[in-house]
Amino acid sequence: MVKLYDEDAYLTSFDAVVTGAETASDGTVLLALDRTAFFPEEGGQSPDRGTIEDFEVTDVQIAGDGICHTVSGATAEHFPVGAKVHGEIDWEHRFRNMQMHTGEHIFSGLVNRTCGYDNVGFHLSDRTATMDYNGKLTEAQIHELEMAANRAIADNRSVTARYPEAAELANLSYRSTHVRRTGEVGGFKIIGWENYKGGVRVSFRCGLRAVEDYEERLRLLGELSRILSVKTEDLADAVAKLQTERRELAYRLVARDREAVSAQIASAALRDTHARDESGRIAGDVVYLLPESDASMLRYAVDLLKKKYAGIVCALLPAGSGNSAAEAVPLKASGAPRETSAVSVQNSAQPVTLRYIIEQDGGNVSEWQKILRERFGAKGGGPKNSVQGSLTGVKEEILSTLRGISNGEYRQTVTDEECGENGG
Ligand SMILES: [Zn+2]
Repeated sequence: MVKLYDEDAYLTSFDAVVTGAETASDGTVLLALDRTAFFPEEGGQSPDRGTIEDFEVTDVQIAGDGICHTVSGATAEHFPVGAKVHGEIDWEHRFRNMQMHTGEHIFSGLVNRTCGYDNVGFHLSDRTATMDYNGKLTEAQIHELEMAANRAIADNRSVTARYPEAAELANLSYRSTHVRRTGEVGGFKIIGWENYKGGVRVSFRCGLRAVEDYEERLRLLGELSRILSVKTEDLADAVAKLQTERRELAYRLVARDREAVSAQIASAALRDTHARDESGRIAGDVVYLLPESDASMLRYAVDLLKKKYAGIVCALLPAGSGNSAAEAVPLKASGAPRETSAVSVQNSAQPVTLRYIIEQDGGNVSEWQKILRERFGAKGGGPKNSVQGSLTGVKEEILSTLRGISNGEYRQTVTDEECGENGG
């Protein structure tokens, strides 16, 4: 098994003899040849692409002492043992890998010489490329090293000349394809870095992949500047301005929602003719479905309601979208035989997800939550006088259930059953 890429990294077409072929379970053919120019996935680098007898080579892997080519669109019958075949390497893909791999050597050599760190990891797929070092680099160091790498590329030195001695090279855990002169790397650009396992992980692009990356970034900037109708150099200012405006709007919206909710709770209380306790609060429970708003409105409403109602306070806030306006729904007040006001809800059988807080100072609201959990899968919890979480169900059913809990309908059922069991 001759590895032609070891002798000549620039070889793009070759002839070989089939030494084995079998059809894999996924319908592809696994092909072994007596010689190949296809570089396998090795040393963190993606494998070559190309064709063998015009069939696409989709993967190349090391298999024991040999190399296994995955060929798609063919069957094993296309490749009888002893047959002569022709292979073509996808040079556009390979050359990019050679530029990236050689650029990695240049940068790692500079890191080692100036900081003494070793390259302890290398990953080169078609979409990402990273190098790991066993020591940290500052932003200034990274910038200096990047410039030094580009100067070494511009010097157009022979790559073999700056390589390790032959014995050292043989000890490398992997080998790969390199360009002949540093100038062919084309350029070296770091696009990001992060602390990683006590050292640093650096993302980079070389040569044609750097140009492609640059094109992609320009396209993105162009798209953004079209959307925002500003020049690319003014983008940062424009986005900062948008953020400020958005924050101000959100603030004004919350203020307006608070006003609306306060007015609604105040007027609902005024309409109510229920009995009052000694502090002037209505002696009954209340359920209040808020309009869609900021999550902080739920706590705001509960605190307001507790000033008006002495009973259990339950506030609900839509967690999703498409919900209707606020509906204040006073429930049965204890000691007041009058029917509660009608619950006005939009006709919608669509389940909605609501956040809730149920609270009564010094009271016990755990029964409410227990029933909501059973009937609507309510999540959440809290101490017995204050529970909160979320639940999902049809709005009308949730509200009628809450009315039922307040009326003691469920308590009756539970108690009867328990009595039956205990008394039996
Ligand atoms: Zn190498």
